Amino acid sequence: MAEETIFSKIIRKEIPADILYQDELVTAFRDISPKAPTHILIIPNVVIPTVNEVEAEHEQALGRLFTVARKLAAEAGIAEDGYRLMVNCNRHGGQEVYHIHMHLLGGRPLGPMLA
Ligand code: AMP
Repeated sequence: MAEETIFSKIIRKEIPADILYQDELVTAFRDISPKAPTHILIIPNVVIPTVNEVEAEHEQALGRLFTVARKLAAEAGIAEDGYRLMVNCNRHGGQEVYHIHMHLLGGRPLGPMLA
């Protein structure tokens, strides 16, 4: 079993978070330190520390990150202008929380990816 992070507490509602969506596979909540007008984190409910630990058995939950991203982007009204989905891995990728998560960023022009 992978080690839990603060995100497991958010999933279990043991600490406060602005949860926008939750089902049996994934949870989505607003980033506490938003980098854009819309900044949502979408995470699997199971702990997968990084992309390096992804297995075939995770495909259903990880696929759902995209369908939930699509739904939340539409609800936020940013679908037409566009948005960025981002997954950081380990130190060089800038990962801070070791529970795999997809960032949904939008609401302003985000510029080139590697700015
Ligand atoms: P990363 O650098 O990809 O690991 O992103 C981690 C993200 O988690 C950062 O954008 C943080 O602002 C965000 N974050 C950390 N703790 C919390 C929390 N308690 N609630 C919501 N977002 C958080």
